[in-house]
Amino acid sequence: MKLLISACLLGTPCRYNAEALKKINLYDFELYPLCPEILGGFPTPRPPSERQDKKVVNIRGEDVSEGFYLGAHAALDFMRKENIQMALLKENSPSCGVRSIYDGSFTGRKIKGRGIFTELLLENGYRVYSENQIEILKEELDEKKKKENQSGP
Ligand code: SF4
Repeated sequence: MKLLISACLLGTPCRYNAEALKKINLYDFELYPLCPEILGGFPTPRPPSERQDKKVVNIRGEDVSEGFYLGAHAALDFMRKENIQMALLKENSPSCGVRSIYDGSFTGRKIKGRGIFTELLLENGYRVYSENQIEILKEELDEKKKKENQSGP
């Protein structure tokens, strides 16, 4: 099963890291690690950025929306090209957040919301999970295996 994954979840030092992946066997998936912000032309490390409604600004007050949207669209193009239908993304990121993001005030407060890339994927009918929803992903994988076993060789 093909799975696009936030590159930082696999330890690529593009921004965040996650321990949550220990709950699934990654060898069950054909993984495609990718960072939409790097695709958008941002360096690593880079100043923290947060969403302010449709806009994304960095901690210096610069509007960095263009790079975020560019990276999200480049990542979507990649998924289409590779025929990847689902993504496991890093919660709280202004690109990859699935259920929560920082509130745009750079004070560490989180709100319900989605990252730019996540929003684009959902608008286009892709299945998206965060590292905090690994159980759902696992169930989906088990279901697929069950169906394959039932249909036989
Ligand atoms: S954009 Fe996504 S993949 Fe890149 S560092 Fe942020 S959370 Fe990780």
